[in-house]
Amino acid sequence: MAEIGAQNDPIVGAHHKNNVKYQRDIDQFVNVIKGALQPISVPPADSYMSTLAPAAWSGPHGSKLLIPGYNPNQVPETNLRSSAVTRTVGGMATHWTCSSPKPHEEERVLNPIPAAELDQLLDRAADLLKVKTDQYDTSIRHRLVKKTLQDALGPDRGVDSLPLGVTRNTGNPEFVTWTATDTIFDKWSSDPRFTLLTESRVTELHADPSNTEAIGGALIRDLKSTNDDIYVKAKVYIVACGAVCTPQLLWNSNIRPDALGRYLTEQSLSFCQIVLTKKLVESIYNNPEFKEQVDEHLRKHPNDPLPIPYKDPEPQVLIPYKSATPWHVQVHRDAFSYGDVGPKADPRVVVDLRFFGKGEIVKENRVTFGENDAQDIYGMPQATFYVTRTADDADRDQRMMQDMTTVANVLGGFLPGSYPQFMEPGLALHITGTTRIGNDPATSVADANSRVHGFQNLFVGGNGCIPDATACNPTRTSMAIALKGAAAVLEVLKSKKA
Ligand SMILES: Cc1cc2nc3c(=O)[nH]c(=O)nc-3n(C[C@H](O)[C@H](O)[C@H](O)COP(=O)(O)OP(=O)(O)OC[C@H]3O[C@@H](n4cnc5c(N)ncnc54)[C@H](O)[C@@H]3O)c2cc1C
Repeated sequence: MAEIGAQNDPIVGAHHKNNVKYQRDIDQFVNVIKGALQPISVPPADSYMSTLAPAAWSGPHGSKLLIPGYNPNQVPETNLRSSAVTRTVGGMATHWTCSSPKPHEEERVLNPIPAAELDQLLDRAADLLKVKTDQYDTSIRHRLVKKTLQDALGPDRGVDSLPLGVTRNTGNPEFVTWTATDTIFDKWSSDPRFTLLTESRVTELHADPSNTEAIGGALIRDLKSTNDDIYVKAKVYIVACGAVCTPQLLWNSNIRPDALGRYLTEQSLSFCQIVLTKKLVESIYNNPEFKEQVDEHLRKHPNDPLPIPYKDPEPQVLIPYKSATPWHVQVHRDAFSYGDVGPKADPRVVVDLRFFGKGEIVKENRVTFGENDAQDIYGMPQATFYVTRTADDADRDQRMMQDMTTVANVLGGFLPGSYPQFMEPGLALHITGTTRIGNDPATSVADANSRVHGFQNLFVGGNGCIPDATACNPTRTSMAIALKGAAAVLEVLKSKKA
């Protein structure tokens, strides 16, 4: 396996949030996520500085500076400005939130994998991700928020615990272990058959000269130690570089089917934070369910004005996608690249609301590569986005925002500075479709086995394979698709030809 990023954790591919430091102080994890996200396409800034000394160098009038890392081809209006790549061993799974719901039927209509099979694959993916819904059941806040929303919204909305890839530690239940590549491939790093090349860029795949339907080798650049290229020959090649860098590598390898980078969907994201109402906080005192925990806390901390233990786990509540309300909702408390509470409020009474809205599938919504020979800072063809939301998307987003404010008002008052807002496009980090699977090579990049159309030994993996418009988090679905692909890879390896 070649990975362009470094190994940042002594445990290969571990989730950084498994450190005590971040579980004690979740706000600090915001900085980890910020540092992990390298933006994909940033248009050049207006470089005119009105107070610059006249003697200092400046570009010709009206010019935009070509600063490395900025994309001169990017139109701001069609950009996914907050879309980013995490270049490290373990990828984005080193910081993800681990929310892993099963997609609604409407979120898997275009998937070429037969429905019953996909359902089984989604269950297997959940097992591998160690998805559970009961790891926060001891939390006062979790039970309070869940019950309040169930009562206020009624049974049709299906309010429940958020399915999370997480395991509460048995020795010390204050802490949890978040799922990442290390918990899935727990023995991989010590397996003598496995070699991991880090800070190594896969630059191109080359066709096999004797067989145009096969890849014959991969050109890999050791970025750090030598800057040399190595050529790796394998029986099977799997490109799983994320939803933008997977099509980027195919494009750079001159594998450019019409669907590559097209049919791109990204979710809208609305966000706010609330401070729980006095009424809800006071109800904790009188609730027999919480009595033992509250009494113990107040015995230890008689001066605490809140009846919530300091180590009470966060709320982790789901309002699932429904046909009438086609968005995915997380009512919880967690770190992202935004939304740290800091000293503004006691974090025990703050709840985050994240609403994810789907985007219609449009062929013209796409990412292109290498326009005008532009390169990204890793020397790969620069990605440029052409993505807009349709009129239907806009209507749905309006309804979603209205719903978010209604749900927020059930729970509390808005935290100043975290009023209801749409976040920058791309911030959901849930791009799909760019290497979508399908039966028709005209509208897809790979088949139901994730095998790139027209190739025997080239497979793709990751969120780009998802062919549908989804609102829920994508990783579980990508894993389900990849599990079927992995079985097909095994078949190739077992066949005599390989
Ligand atoms: C803050 C945050 C919260 C999230 N929360 C959730 C959530 O709750 N639920 C959910 O489902 N998803 C969530 N995600 C998204 C989730 O992490 C991703 O869907 C998942 O990690 C994608 O896995 P992947 O392996 O396909 O891609 P990635 O994790 O992006 O891994 C791709 C790897 O390929 C490497 N690479 C790229 N180009 C090259 C090249 N040319 N050569 C060699 N290596 C290359 C990259 O460095 C990277 O390590 C979240 C992400 C973030 C950042």
